Amino acid sequence: MIKKILIANRGEIALRISRACKELGIKSVSIHSEADKFSLHRKFADEDICIGASSAKDTYLNIPKIIAAALITGADAIHPGYGFLAENGQFAEICEKNKIKFIGPTRKMIELMGDKAMARKTMIEIGVPVVPGTEGIVDDIATAKKEAKRIKYPVIMKATAGGGGKGMRIAQNEKELEELFPIAQAEAKANFGNPGIYIEKYIEHPHHIEFQILADKFGNAIHLGERDCSIQRRHQKLIEETPSPFMTPQLREKMGEIAVKAVKHINYEGVGTVEFLVDKDRNFYFMEMNTRIQVEHTITEEVTRINLIKKQILAAMGEKLSYKQSDINFMGHAFECRINAEDPYSDFAPSPGKIESLHFPAGLGVRVDSHIYAGYDIPPFYDSLIAKLVVWAYDRDEAIKRMQRCLDEIVIEGIKTTVPFHKQVFKDKRFIAGTFDTHFLNDFKMK
Ligand code: ADP
Repeated sequence: MIKKILIANRGEIALRISRACKELGIKSVSIHSEADKFSLHRKFADEDICIGASSAKDTYLNIPKIIAAALITGADAIHPGYGFLAENGQFAEICEKNKIKFIGPTRKMIELMGDKAMARKTMIEIGVPVVPGTEGIVDDIATAKKEAKRIKYPVIMKATAGGGGKGMRIAQNEKELEELFPIAQAEAKANFGNPGIYIEKYIEHPHHIEFQILADKFGNAIHLGERDCSIQRRHQKLIEETPSPFMTPQLREKMGEIAVKAVKHINYEGVGTVEFLVDKDRNFYFMEMNTRIQVEHTITEEVTRINLIKKQILAAMGEKLSYKQSDINFMGHAFECRINAEDPYSDFAPSPGKIESLHFPAGLGVRVDSHIYAGYDIPPFYDSLIAKLVVWAYDRDEAIKRMQRCLDEIVIEGIKTTVPFHKQVFKDKRFIAGTFDTHFLNDFKMK
């Protein structure tokens, strides 16, 4: 049994988790930095504890402080949310050593899937198609050149410990590879503490399609359909939708089956996401697995009506999965717009500061997950996501119209946000036609 959960995160996801706890009758404890003193996430938890000043390193990434907070408040589990320590195997292990249930997979599992080169190897072993690439880490430029020649240009260099769209470099030819390989290594070391780089074929004009997985400790696993996350800027997702306009029923069945086979093979438990790239001919390749809840889980909840955070907590409590694959009914279409405190007219520069006035849209099929309010001062220290605007409707056309309506209704004054960007995308002919891929934003200009 889990009676009290410490939420090792902040912002909208911390709020989202405390809401799930409340509905499950579980007490929640929030942690916050001094800079987050006025954040809503701490107001709605049952208990709340300050763990440091402002930097993430001193607070939301500080394992000893978080464990101490859990022990002091008597929390018997920790939910890591996404980002911060969510895919830190050492943290998962330290929780377990302190007899605190980590709501997520074991250290072994996190490391198996979190290391991208290792995850590739595992998928190859069980026959899952992966992007053509090196078998593991490439240490030196001579090997990199030899491998890139074999894989054929263009190639992409990726940090094995990378994430969040960071740590990737594309080389069109050998000259670029020579130039960029040492830079990629140095960046990987600086950003992720691990210089390991592997090389993949750069798939041109791919679609980013991922499958949501739900699994229990008894070896049962199902998928909850796909999410199309092809609307990206510098490899970072901005808009997600389900179902994907690029998907066919046959492809969904095939990719879903493979995603489930992969998680069953590694005895995965809880929620997770298997990410694929799909090329223009609908060939698909495994890219990576995320062993945590993702920002965009909301759209899957909208079309399945399954509360993923609740299911994640229940799976951690050892509950058997209550559905079979055939029980899952998908209904309608959902979109998510990530509203960031960034200025789309100024190369998406961060725009922290005080929110002078605020109005969120509402109505049938509208959901806003957010921790902001009028008068709230957005601290400059963390992620710029301030709200997730999610709409559901019977079909894609109606969902687009609903999102357009919501984007017109939303008012966030005092700071710059990505709302004007979303408005423009939702009026774009190619987007409306559903004929976009991950390169959609390459030549996109704000009007
Ligand atoms: P992260 O873990 O940092 O999010 P991913 O491996 O999920 O990184 O890749 C993020 C995005 O980068 C993908 O959605 C895709 O747009 C692009 N990308 C990654 N690998 C390739 C590849 N081999 N070819 C083309 N694009 C790629």
